[in-house]
Amino acid sequence: MKIRLLGTAAGGGLPQWNCGCTECTAARREGRSRSQDCLAVSGDGRAWYLVNASPDLRTQLLAAPELAPAPGTRDTPLRGVLLTSAELDHTLGLLTLREASGLTVHATAPVRHALHHAFPVGPLLAAYTGADWHTATPGKPVELDGGLRVEAFALGGKRPRYAADLPDHAHWVTGYRFTEDGGEACAVYAPGLADWTPAMDRAVAGADLVLLDGTFATAGELADRTGGARRSPGMGHLAVRDSLPHLAGRPGPRYLYTHLNNTNPLARRTPPEVAAAGAGVARDGLLIEL
Ligand SMILES: [Zn+2]
Repeated sequence: MKIRLLGTAAGGGLPQWNCGCTECTAARREGRSRSQDCLAVSGDGRAWYLVNASPDLRTQLLAAPELAPAPGTRDTPLRGVLLTSAELDHTLGLLTLREASGLTVHATAPVRHALHHAFPVGPLLAAYTGADWHTATPGKPVELDGGLRVEAFALGGKRPRYAADLPDHAHWVTGYRFTEDGGEACAVYAPGLADWTPAMDRAVAGADLVLLDGTFATAGELADRTGGARRSPGMGHLAVRDSLPHLAGRPGPRYLYTHLNNTNPLARRTPPEVAAAGAGVARDGLLIEL
């Protein structure tokens, strides 16, 4: 299994255009940046799937040589997109894929609904390319091209702000667990982890790699650094400080924090307590082979 981390920042990216917090200011000064959350995964190195479609997708695709079209064609190795939520930073890039000759999108029922009504990217895309939508159901594995198997697992009911009027549902946010047909490799992607649940426990058991929510280092980070009132638990993100104790009790996988908010000091350096837990911080462009 091959995994390319295309983007490792939360919505807004790093630096965020309107943010002058300590981290965004340092990133501007040092010429560092992180693009918004997006992953590419392949079982055989030929057929690739995206997890989430960020607003930075065009640049991310151009930076990944394995996703380039074959010379003389418009046939790319991209076989589809899996969505972990309906958030704008995970879905705006679907519109960037409108030139595709066809597109397969996997999303849970409430996410599919949101993307056909509150934010009608589904109907918009249909005018440009044939998009084939599939409902991802937690607990029901799906066979993908290239010997890749994926199973969604529920991570919470937090809706995007634009979908505030839509009904409650336990599958607004999911993670994905990837395995290989006839292989041992297993990777878990959970960029929106509101709480460490039994479903998360089952997903990480036996995994080689776990990419997990590193949006905020601490629960009060956003309020502390931007003067706002929003705290990470209410935003559907378990802070790194609060997920670290869970890693200690579940040794085995390589843990990498991703989906870093621009206020998060982990975007700049890995603190000793993270390294001591055997974990690390993801970076844009990282290629991992399992
Ligand atoms: Zn900032």
